[in-house]
Amino acid sequence: MSLKRIIPYGRQEITEEDIKAVAETLRSDYLTQGPKVAEFEEKLASYCGAKFAVAFSNGTAALHGAYYAAGLRKGDSFITSPMTFAATANAGLYLGASPVFCDIEPDTGNIDSDRIPALINKSVKLIAPVHYSGMPADMAEIRAIADERKLMVIEDACHALGAVYKGERIGNCAYSDMAVFSFHPVKHVATGEGGAVLTNNKNLRDTLLIFRSHGITRDNLINEPHGGWYHEMQELGYNYRMTDIQCALGISQLSRAESSLGKRRLMAAKYDAVFSDVKGVKTPPHREGRQNAYHLYPLRMEHGRKEVYDLLREKGVHAQVHYLPVYMHPYYRANGFENFTLPEAEKFYKSELSIPMFPSLTDEEQDYVTESVREALKCVLG
Ligand SMILES: *Cc1c(COP(=O)(O)O)cnc(C)c1O
Repeated sequence: MSLKRIIPYGRQEITEEDIKAVAETLRSDYLTQGPKVAEFEEKLASYCGAKFAVAFSNGTAALHGAYYAAGLRKGDSFITSPMTFAATANAGLYLGASPVFCDIEPDTGNIDSDRIPALINKSVKLIAPVHYSGMPADMAEIRAIADERKLMVIEDACHALGAVYKGERIGNCAYSDMAVFSFHPVKHVATGEGGAVLTNNKNLRDTLLIFRSHGITRDNLINEPHGGWYHEMQELGYNYRMTDIQCALGISQLSRAESSLGKRRLMAAKYDAVFSDVKGVKTPPHREGRQNAYHLYPLRMEHGRKEVYDLLREKGVHAQVHYLPVYMHPYYRANGFENFTLPEAEKFYKSELSIPMFPSLTDEEQDYVTESVREALKCVLG
């Protein structure tokens, strides 16, 4: 087969209905701060099974809001995974707090919950697990550890919309105080830029609302109101709002979330079947009681990852590596993590390759990817 397009590791799927929904909003009275925001929030909360959702301009802003609402401040620290996008840790730095990186499980790439207790000291305020690739982390264990020390738990669920843990969807916050999602085009729901925090706690929700809009409110006023126009700024917030245009796209995308997830799972099953017998590679693990949302399909190979990556690239298959452990970024190296090392995270980084996984990948394209990976592996590993 010849390729009609470059195949990336992930990409959005936009339908005519999506385009119609956005066009309708463009013709309406509100481009931002209108009814589509609340509608998206309600639908998202209901899909995940949480009481409240608060939309943010992107996933990073949502993480910033969640950490702020949790009370993370200057001098505090928080425990998180190094096997993530830098934003999970950066959002804590914005508040003057420091990340404590915990090593990962060698198979899932998720934070190793057994290693968390040893890292807890008086400055630690919260634990922020990441559901790497869409496979839920050990939420029950993490909640138990947090409860014992009265810590908050914030899930970076940016990979995990639609994932299931012990029979319920990630995002219902059954084992956390808040869960954060991103709607970047490579994620399950694409809105261009967009994000959200889910919670069952009304106080956290109120703080998130005020934080995303400059710290300004019309409710629970500190001053006597001067008249109908009156609003006041009570905290230092940001402009982290999501627009109605983006939310209209989000609503339309969310209505297809389950069928898109079904496609991802079928694709994963196909990859599993092909690669589980191939020498030198490991397919992503399965866990009893957990359903992966397959944001990524991470293959693991002890040798030859770079060569396989390069060969695929020549064939028009743009795989990706997730992730350089956060503390290895030059910024972190220069800011307190100069000689820091976590053996499992570094082994994972050296062996990981995310091959294409997105709902609009056609059967033909997936076959092409599979064949290309197989040939590349043969060429490199013999
Ligand atoms: C995408 C992502 C983010 C950040 O989301 P943006 O919407 O791009 O700001 C944070 N954490 C993880 C794990 C992500 O994959």
